[in-house]
Amino acid sequence: MSEKKVAPAPGDRTVIGLTFGNSNSSIAHTVDDKAEVIANEDGDRQIPTILSYVEGEEYYGQQAKAFLVRNPKNTVAYFRDFLGKDFKSIDPTHNHASAHPQEADDSVSFTVKDKEGEDAEPSTLPVSEVSARYLRRLVASASDYLGKKVTSAVITIPTNFSEKQKAALIAAAGEADLEVLQLISEPVAAVLAYDARPEGVISDKIVVVADLGGTRSDVSVVASRGGMYTILATVHDYEFAGFALDKILIDHFAKEFLKKHGGADPRENARSLAKLKQESESTKKALSLGNNASFSVESLSEGVDFASTINRLRYETIARSVFEGFNRLVESVIKKADLDVLDVDEVILSGGTSHTPRIAANMGSIFPKTTTILAPSTTPSAINPSELQARGAALQASLIQEYEADDIDQSTHAAVTTVPHVNNAIGVVSLSESGEEVFVPIIQPETAVPARRTVHVPAPKNGGDILVKVVEGNTHIKVTKPEPKANGDSKAAKVEDADDSDEDSDFSDEEEEEEEKREKVWKIGTTLAEAAIRGVKKGGKVEVTINVNADLSVVVTTREVGAKGGVRGTISA
Ligand code: ATP
Ligand code: MG
Repeated sequence: MSEKKVAPAPGDRTVIGLTFGNSNSSIAHTVDDKAEVIANEDGDRQIPTILSYVEGEEYYGQQAKAFLVRNPKNTVAYFRDFLGKDFKSIDPTHNHASAHPQEADDSVSFTVKDKEGEDAEPSTLPVSEVSARYLRRLVASASDYLGKKVTSAVITIPTNFSEKQKAALIAAAGEADLEVLQLISEPVAAVLAYDARPEGVISDKIVVVADLGGTRSDVSVVASRGGMYTILATVHDYEFAGFALDKILIDHFAKEFLKKHGGADPRENARSLAKLKQESESTKKALSLGNNASFSVESLSEGVDFASTINRLRYETIARSVFEGFNRLVESVIKKADLDVLDVDEVILSGGTSHTPRIAANMGSIFPKTTTILAPSTTPSAINPSELQARGAALQASLIQEYEADDIDQSTHAAVTTVPHVNNAIGVVSLSESGEEVFVPIIQPETAVPARRTVHVPAPKNGGDILVKVVEGNTHIKVTKPEPKANGDSKAAKVEDADDSDEDSDFSDEEEEEEEKREKVWKIGTTLAEAAIRGVKKGGKVEVTINVNADLSVVVTTREVGAKGGVRGTISA
């Protein structure tokens, strides 16, 4: 592939943030430091990642998606993940109802009739070319909207994108005349979008980002420490995602149709199935907003129209196994990060499927009340989950747009992926009022290094000598069993589950009865340093500064506030 290097001078750039998903893409820009998602000429902010060719004319986005019914062979969909991959390693499951991927020149290609005329030869387009054409359309829409040519973008990518995939994406963007300022990981973009809000506080926190898309779900644990983001663990799943929910509704309505009208199964006919799929997706989206949704397809099968309705409770019952799959993904990533639900400060629900109220409600049952669930149905101020990544990318783009292309890699902006970090907390031992030794964290676990934090430790009431003990700290979960109830007044009526499946976990939100109490407590670990400060004034304070270097060695400095001198010690990694 010819690799074009696009590098406008920093002052000549017009920048956007882009997410380029298998199902949808979106574009954002910033106005006065606030991110906004741009609608394309069809008015769409979530633009289907699809190209379709009809009589030599190229359609993209929602218009191309509509052609999946009438022109599937010349419609290319679900191709983003194929960029930079060998044919042997791709999963073509989602391409059965559109142009099929095939092997050509060590890469994945699609053959479509993209030229006008009855006898025009079809073209075989490598996925890099399909991506370049699609990105060109996005850039054109953005340029139209902004009234000037977009030159550069920050693009979000999954955390498991390989170097080859990244290079292929940058090359495809180059073909589309778009400079890639930086690729940032999707979960970090989502965190950035939240942290950049005026009311957002950049505090030290552990965030779970559940990015639930159309063909894949990616869940990550991100540690935010002093404005630096570290990805602690990720899980990727290709079974539990939006399409699985569509499938539940497709089967539901197909069965209902068969019961009512008999005849051929609409799922066996490609065009009927395409119609079922599109209408099921619309019905699914409507169920995220209302308690009832209609389903209606003209000429679904053998000329017979079909209309029906479904309510949310019924939907949640038939889709329960998929919802439970999402729960397991979230639970497994926390386990993978060696954390507990109590360690998690925020859960960001990102991606189109995260609009689903049941998913947010389930997160509310998995996590303690102290964890904020950021989703439209649980937090009114939540950002639209479909817009998070593009917004985060746009914010990052506006931050780095003034850098020379060569300097961006070295820039120390927030969107770092995996960086070295300390595993345990580092802090000091202090005496509680009851005389017990307690751990006071200074550097939180998972803090990216190098890091430096300072605290002031008060001297005993009457002053005197202070021994400062710097130690590592670990948390563990303290479980307190509930007191046995004296009388049986807790027998609140439990809603019977309408589902007759034999799994017994239940969906009710109110599971508070007699739960054991679980809390996070600090445990004092290895002593790193001890420093004695003599003769501290009455009411005085001792300042403790901890520096963790990039090689994880620790330097501790202690001194009396306002006094000269001090004690300094280095502990090697
Ligand atoms: P992927 O790469 O996983 O295929 P993506 O990141 O390109 O997906 P998203 O836009 O995040 O795509 O997610 C698309 C999925 O979200 C689709 O399955 C779509 O039906 C679903 N979706 C979009 N809006 C809603 C909604 N309001 N309620 C429920 N599901 C929705
Ligand atoms: Mg996505």
